[in-house]
Amino acid sequence: MPDIVAIIGCARSGSTLLEGKLQQAADVTALGEVAHLWSRGFLRDELCGCGAAFSRCEFWMEVLARAFGKLHASDARRFDAAFRTAVGGVVHVEARVWRPHAVDPLFADLARALYRAAHQVGGGKTLLDSSKPAHFAASIAATGGARVRPLHLFRSPAPNIQSLRTAKPRPQARDAAHAMMPRSRTLAHAIAHWVFRNAQASNFLDQHKGRSLTIHFDAFRRDASAELPAIMARLGLPARRAGDSPTWHSVSGNPLRFQPNGLDVRAQDRTSDGLNAVERALVRVLTGRQQMRLEARAFRRASTDAAARHAA
Ligand SMILES: [Zn+2]
Repeated sequence: MPDIVAIIGCARSGSTLLEGKLQQAADVTALGEVAHLWSRGFLRDELCGCGAAFSRCEFWMEVLARAFGKLHASDARRFDAAFRTAVGGVVHVEARVWRPHAVDPLFADLARALYRAAHQVGGGKTLLDSSKPAHFAASIAATGGARVRPLHLFRSPAPNIQSLRTAKPRPQARDAAHAMMPRSRTLAHAIAHWVFRNAQASNFLDQHKGRSLTIHFDAFRRDASAELPAIMARLGLPARRAGDSPTWHSVSGNPLRFQPNGLDVRAQDRTSDGLNAVERALVRVLTGRQQMRLEARAFRRASTDAAARHAA
């Protein structure tokens, strides 16, 4: 049965950077945002992280052939609808985030076959999925076809919310209609996205028995070289052998995958959140308590890891 580390939380929280750094350091198979495999990969034939169009990526073609045999666009549209159900809405009733009976039977069959095939083609290593909605990770876990270890990544609300409101070019797109990343049109939408996606992630972690952890993206960016080994130890991920640099077949994710210095943590540094004083105050009122709880969780984890390093 495959092991999956699922990066969960809000969109634009730095998950592609974390996934890329983790796949460099740990002996894992990083898949990108699998929730978008059918829409962006199969149906739109966007670029895989390896640089090839999805239909020409050897890794994904082998995974799909093993899992499903020959596929048509009509199959992919049906499968995409099942995946969308598994992703759930942003404002999802929190109590239903993790309940096994919420899983669509078609999604369960698809997810079991897909991750099993990805596990085989990837050489039996732990899989990394950065789809982000906790409801999707909980749906995978509920299929019983994989062991899911959630990694809740959160970013401070102001820069995360500002990023959600900013349009960015998507070099992976193959048509003009999808040339830009979707953005939140209003501040209220962006705030709701941050609040609910992070609440879903916290709830999934609370319910999860086993290895899981919370990472503050801003702390990770400040000291990635110390954070990475701690994350790997927490999740039980083996280190990659020196000189081993596998191709990153990220099926969907941030455009930084296609930038030469995309994984340079310092290049991702941002000093301004772009909000005006009123917007910043509103964000603080609506997210402040939740941010403190998340920071406390991440801080407790970091302190325990530091204590363990000293004792070793
Ligand atoms: Zn590829």
